Amino acid sequence: MLRTLFGKSITYKLTALLSLVVVITLGIVLCLYIYFEKDFAHDTSAYQFSLATRTINELLSYTNGKEHNLSPQQIIEEVDEASGVNYITLYDNNGRPVISSTPSRQAPLKEKDLTQLQDLSYDHYISSMSEKTLDYIAPVRLVAGCQKCHHNGDRLGFVKVSVYYSQIYKHTYAMAKKLGLIFVSIFFIFGVISIFISETMVVRPLKGFLELIHKAEANNFLPRAEQNRKDEIGEIENNFNQMLSRITKLMAASVERERELVFAKEELRYKKILEKRSEQIEEMNKELGESVKELSLLYNFGQYIISTVDMNELLRIITTTIVDTLHYKECAILFREDNILRIVSAWGFEDNIKLIGMEFGLDEGISGQVASTGKPMLINDTSNEVGYLHYKGQKRTEGSFLSLPLKYKNNVIGVLNVGNDVPNSLTRKDMDFLSAICAQIAVVIENTRLYAQTKELSITDDLTGLFNRRHMRVVLDKEWERAKRYSQPLSLLMIDVDLFKEYNDKFGHLKGDEALGTLSQIFKTHIRGIDTTIRYGGEEFIIILPDTNADGAMIVAEKLRKATVEAFKQDGTIILTVSIGFVSYPDEMFDNANEFLYASDIALYEAKKQGRNTIIKYDSKSMQENDT
Ligand code: GH3
Ligand code: MG
Ligand code: MG
Repeated sequence: MLRTLFGKSITYKLTALLSLVVVITLGIVLCLYIYFEKDFAHDTSAYQFSLATRTINELLSYTNGKEHNLSPQQIIEEVDEASGVNYITLYDNNGRPVISSTPSRQAPLKEKDLTQLQDLSYDHYISSMSEKTLDYIAPVRLVAGCQKCHHNGDRLGFVKVSVYYSQIYKHTYAMAKKLGLIFVSIFFIFGVISIFISETMVVRPLKGFLELIHKAEANNFLPRAEQNRKDEIGEIENNFNQMLSRITKLMAASVERERELVFAKEELRYKKILEKRSEQIEEMNKELGESVKELSLLYNFGQYIISTVDMNELLRIITTTIVDTLHYKECAILFREDNILRIVSAWGFEDNIKLIGMEFGLDEGISGQVASTGKPMLINDTSNEVGYLHYKGQKRTEGSFLSLPLKYKNNVIGVLNVGNDVPNSLTRKDMDFLSAICAQIAVVIENTRLYAQTKELSITDDLTGLFNRRHMRVVLDKEWERAKRYSQPLSLLMIDVDLFKEYNDKFGHLKGDEALGTLSQIFKTHIRGIDTTIRYGGEEFIIILPDTNADGAMIVAEKLRKATVEAFKQDGTIILTVSIGFVSYPDEMFDNANEFLYASDIALYEAKKQGRNTIIKYDSKSMQENDT
């Protein structure tokens, strides 16, 4: 309760403190008073006594000076009338009573007191206490006025004054009362002043300051104390303001740091995301790069393998490209023929030729399994694979092995094997990539096969559009039979381009092809409809002329030679000529078409011999002689 009452206000506290101090002081004073009551009374009466003595002395000196006839009786009466005096007795120098205000108090001074008094100087006294009174004995000086009646020495005698305590107390109480009143008044005035001072000078100015502190407690550091004071509070306020501004700055700095921290954290987060993204991008780029590489390899590979229509050439290109460009150690292609797999191409082995033609059953080795299941097989380490046959002992080194089916329209047409000498050096990636390649290879192999088959069936030559050599046999046999049966003439021109190799070297192979085309056109335009022009070989042509004898054949040959010369004139220079050897039936007789054909070849040889750009008729006599 006290705490709630005085707990908050400084004024109350000060007042309470002050009251406490005053109460304690009064208490102590009271205690001391009670404790030293007698001493106090003694001191007081001693004071009174000294006053009385002085009064007596003064009275005596006064009386001696002015009133010569004032008797001791009168003096005693005068003193006795003073308040609190019990009695007063005057003694002579020997301690004998002279006169007393109370007759019963006329006993002589005690010897002990007298001895003490003998040496006592004036203004000093001896005192004794009884139950109700305090008694004082002091010497009385003989002053000038006294010498009128007293002549001996300078001391008149002694005076004893007995004073009642009660009387002294009365004085003391009155004094204490006055003192108490003064105390209370001082306390009251002091209290009021201190309340006023503390209220106006401390509490009120501190109120605003306290509010500021409360605000600061609630984390509001922005308001400032009004700085209109120069005293200690003003200084405290000033310091507090400085502290607030420092706190504000600190807080601003901490907010800034917090923001920076948040930024840094964000940045770190983004950095991490970015790092992850860039890793992903790098990974993707890598994959993309690999895909592009794979695609370009695939594309190049595709380009390589479509560059030929010759099966053997194709197989050679496939195996060498896989080894040289894709960097596998070895590669072999096996064709499936019914229930057998046969190696048709091999590259990178110790002895490639030895492998060609090697056969495997469909139940034999890894290749057999791949051919029968149509699924690729990857052998990481051939030393651990029982099914791996080491190409029937031809391949002795260990490593990894990959066997892939060559499938065309869901039929396994063969198997492609690749191998490395290092175990585990082939992976699923190789398998996927090579599977894509095998799909291409299978198509190209099948196309090449088809092309060969078609070519076999066709009767015309692609480059010139003329009949091909195979068809010539049909035509020649037919015409030969007909000529013989009906005894009709039959001629055959064999034409060979002169020094065509040089022409190719000089103008290029393409120009050479063009020249062959031009020649075909020349031949076609200068013969009859029943005649047959054939491209017999590279730059060799045969023209079969039914119903044509040697003269007719000569005319045709000459027309063709001339037309060729005309067609291949460049700035007046002849750049291409042909040599023609011909044979005519029945000018010359033969047993069969082959002999007939062969004769034209001999004539052509003769034409070449005679300097080219020439026409020679087969003459059995001269030419057979020449042959022999
Ligand atoms: P010659 O017959 O006069 O003795 O000389 P040649 O240079 O013609 O001799 P050879 O028979 O040895 O050479 C034939 C050449 O013809 C070889 C080949 O380069 C070329 N040739 C063959 N077929 C073709 C073809 O289809 N196109 C092209 N451009 N050249 C071909
Ligand atoms: Mg030739
Ligand atoms: Mg030639």
